[in-house]
Amino acid sequence: MSGEGSPAAAGERQEGVFIDVEVSEQIAGDAELARKLQEVCPVDIFSASEGRVEVVRSNLDECVLCELCLEAAPDGRLAVKKLYDGTELRR
Ligand code: SF4
Repeated sequence: MSGEGSPAAAGERQEGVFIDVEVSEQIAGDAELARKLQEVCPVDIFSASEGRVEVVRSNLDECVLCELCLEAAPDGRLAVKKLYDGTELRR
């Protein structure tokens, strides 16, 4: 039997297809930074949950590459990865 398109959406994960954000462990537990990131990101990719930096995965692809999160975080501790071309934004 052919023409049975593969069921790609098994489990329907709410993750970014085009964008991923990487938060290093050194800043993940910084409550003040978590609040700051939640405040600066225009598309709510960060959530300050229980004093930790949480990435709202379902919003990842809304990223507008404004770099405000990179400016808010200490250098090198946060990266915005462009999965579609393999490059990343980092300070
Ligand atoms: S680059 Fe801008 S839109 Fe993207 S995660 Fe950072 S603050 Fe949010």
